[in-house]
Amino acid sequence: MYTTLSPCDMCTGACVMYKVSRVVIGENKSFVGGEEYLKQRGIEVVVLGNKEMTGMMQKYIDENPRIWYASPTVVTNLPSTQR
Ligand SMILES: [Zn+2]
Repeated sequence: MYTTLSPCDMCTGACVMYKVSRVVIGENKSFVGGEEYLKQRGIEVVVLGNKEMTGMMQKYIDENPRIWYASPTVVTNLPSTQR
C-alpha cells in the first residue's frame, strides 16, 4: 500500500487485517501513525521522507487547522504541549 501520510489507527488495522505485505509512506513528519505496530505484525514499512509531500501537508494543515486538529487520531498523537 502507498500512502501520503503515516497510516492512522483505522488504516493500520486494515493493513493488518488484509495482510498487506508492505506500506510505503510518503512522509511522517506531519503525523506518525501505527508504523511500529505494522512492523510488529511483520509488515515492511518504508518511509520515503518526501519533502514535496511534507510541504503539501504543512500547507494543508496551515490552511485547515480546524479540520486537521479535529481528527481524534491526530490529537492523540500530538505531544501534550500541542493538544
Ligand atoms: Zn487512515
